[in-house]
Amino acid sequence: MFRQTKTVLAKLQNVRLKGLHLSWRRRSTAAAAAAAGEKAHQYTAGQQIHGFTVKEVVAVPELFLTAIKLTHDRTGAQYLHAARDDPNNLFSVQFRTTPMDSTGVPHILEHTVLCGSQKYPCRDPFFKMLNRSLCTFMNAFTASDYTMYPFSTQNAKDFQNLLSVYLDAVFFPCLREQDFWQEGWRLENEDPANASSPLVFKGVVFNEMKGAFSDNERLYAQHLQNKLYPDHTYSVVSGGEPLAIPDLTWEQLKDFHATHYHPSNARFFTYGDLPLEQHLKQIEQEALSKFERIQTNTRVPSQPPWASPREEHVTCSPDAMAPDAARQSTLCVSYKLGDITDTFEAFTLSLLSALMTSGPNAPFYKALIEPKIGTDFSSVVGYDGSTKEASFSIGLQGIAECDADKVKNIICQTVDRIIESGFEDERIEALLHKTEIQIKHQSSNFGLSLASYIASSWNHDGDPVELLRINNSIREFRRALQENPRFLQDKVQHYLKENSHRLTLSMSPDDSYLDKQVSAEERKLQEKIAALSDSDKKDIYEKGLRLLAAQSQTQDASCLPTLKVSDIAPTLAATPLHMTKAGDVPLQLCEQPTNGLVYFRAMCSLNTLPEDLKLYVPLFCSVITKMGCGSLDYRQQAQQMELKTGDMSVSPQVIPDCAHMDVFEQGVLLSSSCLERNLADMLQLWADIFNNPRFDDPERLRVLVMMSAQELANGISYSGHVYAMTRAGHLLTPAGELLETFDGMDQVKFMKRIAEMSDLTPVLRMLPRIKKHLLNPENMRCAVNATPQGASESVRHLENFMTDVAGKRKRFKAVRPNVIQRPLDVDNISGACKTLVADSNFQPCHMKTFFQLPFPVNFVSESIRTVPYSHKDYASLCVLARMMTAKFLHGEIREKGGAYGGGAKMAGGGLFSFYSYRDPNSVQTLSAFGKGVDWAKSGKFSQQDIDEAKLSIFSAVDSPVAPSNKGMSVFLSGITDEMRQRHRERLFDVTQGNLLDVAERYLSVGSKTYGVSILGPENDAIKKDPSWVVK
Ligand SMILES: [Zn+2]
Repeated sequence: MFRQTKTVLAKLQNVRLKGLHLSWRRRSTAAAAAAAGEKAHQYTAGQQIHGFTVKEVVAVPELFLTAIKLTHDRTGAQYLHAARDDPNNLFSVQFRTTPMDSTGVPHILEHTVLCGSQKYPCRDPFFKMLNRSLCTFMNAFTASDYTMYPFSTQNAKDFQNLLSVYLDAVFFPCLREQDFWQEGWRLENEDPANASSPLVFKGVVFNEMKGAFSDNERLYAQHLQNKLYPDHTYSVVSGGEPLAIPDLTWEQLKDFHATHYHPSNARFFTYGDLPLEQHLKQIEQEALSKFERIQTNTRVPSQPPWASPREEHVTCSPDAMAPDAARQSTLCVSYKLGDITDTFEAFTLSLLSALMTSGPNAPFYKALIEPKIGTDFSSVVGYDGSTKEASFSIGLQGIAECDADKVKNIICQTVDRIIESGFEDERIEALLHKTEIQIKHQSSNFGLSLASYIASSWNHDGDPVELLRINNSIREFRRALQENPRFLQDKVQHYLKENSHRLTLSMSPDDSYLDKQVSAEERKLQEKIAALSDSDKKDIYEKGLRLLAAQSQTQDASCLPTLKVSDIAPTLAATPLHMTKAGDVPLQLCEQPTNGLVYFRAMCSLNTLPEDLKLYVPLFCSVITKMGCGSLDYRQQAQQMELKTGDMSVSPQVIPDCAHMDVFEQGVLLSSSCLERNLADMLQLWADIFNNPRFDDPERLRVLVMMSAQELANGISYSGHVYAMTRAGHLLTPAGELLETFDGMDQVKFMKRIAEMSDLTPVLRMLPRIKKHLLNPENMRCAVNATPQGASESVRHLENFMTDVAGKRKRFKAVRPNVIQRPLDVDNISGACKTLVADSNFQPCHMKTFFQLPFPVNFVSESIRTVPYSHKDYASLCVLARMMTAKFLHGEIREKGGAYGGGAKMAGGGLFSFYSYRDPNSVQTLSAFGKGVDWAKSGKFSQQDIDEAKLSIFSAVDSPVAPSNKGMSVFLSGITDEMRQRHRERLFDVTQGNLLDVAERYLSVGSKTYGVSILGPENDAIKKDPSWVVK
């Protein structure tokens, strides 16, 4: 599943692809890192390589890398290489794109350059390469002031292939008029085949941005940026304002490309263990040698500061899911800060922002969140360094309109209080500790993290190498604090108190907002139509037919480079695991190069939990580490967690069995990490949570409930397809039913009800009942990932932990009668077991559910019950889903239908699901799914199509796993290396015959068992159709 996480930065980015696996690996040990560094050290400043001159070579030991900065002599293109012993190599090129209107020109350009180029003239090479490569990441982003094209792969040949396609796409795109219509906007007959059907606006970006603006958080962030920097590029919408998009012409698009996508305006970044020289050579030969330097005009001037603060108000659509319908306003105060290219100042201000806003000990949290004036901080909060001059924002969402002045006053008073009393030393230490853990944590997407970390500052000519040297900033920070104990308070005085460049922006719902949007679009449409002559209309009709014909054509992608199935490693690298015990509790140990961190997890079964408490489990999980424990109140607990751990969290789990459709495991997963030296302290915190959690503070619970409910409500417009899929599958398997309870629209509505309750005491009373079933060593198994030395130490600590919590050991009866015991260790079947639930009488039901929501777009899904992971047909269904997506559904749902995305996917629990994302169509998309099945059954696909689907699947199957996550599929799902190897072999073996066979047997009308769900705006067709359940 690809539920999106949201950050302030991501808010204003338009990401091209959804659902791609982010995945990286680093097999670094200190020695190996030194080896990669040594190779990089052979470069010296002044050296010339393939048209580039080396400017600087800098070792960055804290990140185990060597940075090499170069400039391209003829064009002035800038280049940064980070040599690191990581096989997951990354390339990215970014251009400074600074639009001066809201037609979305950089965003539409980002889409259209990926519609074919000189050397690779086939349509949509980008999507096609997904199936011809083992890439671990491929994407494109349009930010407010730059556009970035990154990819990563572990295969050297693949790197060259992708580099060639990327270079040709950005520097030599075809930019055909037809591409502009398809991706940008066009007027077209609603039914392109019918010249008398009404003319409407169509286009991928047009629909994407309508979807994006239906998200109130995004809308607010956009307004805030536009109004805080009103004098240049930040005053416009780089992604495109839906009604301004139809003002863009094809000529303007081509112009923008010529002036912005030029080497003189480009920054190249490469990362990993492949040799730099080869990259430089290829980039010079295939692209840069064909250009001369130009004078670019993309510099962003500083925003002239205001003489006095400003206030603005905007409106949005009401949110049906809001936790409190009467409180739906947002208000926040935003301050313009200094230039982000001042690395140390930016570092200081982001730390300062965390001290002021993050966690229950932060002054703004105490002053704004705890009085419960609003549901949560405003969607934009804290330090934001994504614009040339940074900003700090603070405010609330979910407030009553009449509380606006109250919020403003609290913000002023809190600023004064911070200036007066500063921060406790311990909080500053906790924050620096957190920074240390962040540096040490081996993410599986390190190259990409670096690329996005440096992108903004580098974009405005900041020094990216200085940014990487985080330890320098930490040292300087400590020195500054030592020299001036009021160092941070002085910053608050200067940047907040005395800053007249600040904006107070409020937003409140307007019941007629959506109607106004619709009529504004209608006016725009009529304006355009009024200007058309009869021959123009005829022309539009013919263009529409031509576009449809082009979209329906079988496409020849043979011009694109490709890997072959034989390039895929036949066997999988095994992960050694050691099964042991801590006390009586089963423990899985996995030794990994974790850089001195220990990752501790525990899975606790839900089998004995009474059914009436199930709906409360997600709430229990989200509050159990935040209410206080033992002698610590929730503030002290938060402080200890920050000082001693990287993170402690609990999440509900529904894990389908790999062999039986009607068997699953239910539980909650405890996850945590810390430095080796802090393991005993972290386990003490867990022991306190087990032995003495505090459930005595309804006011604290109210704060947490409001925040969770708000987060869930805000997430629907991002993850509507996930909710639709969860719902579509909810009556098909017993696991599906529980998943809907934990993670579906049922849960969203339940949390809304809880948030509306005036008295939470009854809810509070549920929590200890859940606790005694869940936090119980009788029902538990643990896993530790650590360095070899850390792993052996942790067994001892865990034994102490088990002794500490032994008093909580209780035997309860399982609630459901049919339980199945499965050995945890396949090599020791008489050893410890986990308990699964079986429902042999389960009858899957067909159901069509429609959720009416205030969105202008739909999320559509159909799920079909098929076979579980270890069934012999599972691999064929995986290949089929991938192939149908790439070869049929993408074209129908996105290109013809105008949705942002769509496809099919096969999940381990045995559900084959179709979905669409931000889709202008609803029931029509269901018939596109049906046509997809007909297409599959017709067998109109080639061996090449099958091979491409396999490559694409293997790039996910073989995506790198971070050291912290190794062994997790065994721990959670019981899927061993042997089982994965068997699945791998079956994937290799899938034939055309297998695909036809599974399409017929599982997906055909008549033989399929399925469910359907749509989330979307009011829908007359569905209302009139009694086969739908409308919610
Ligand atoms: Zn886009």
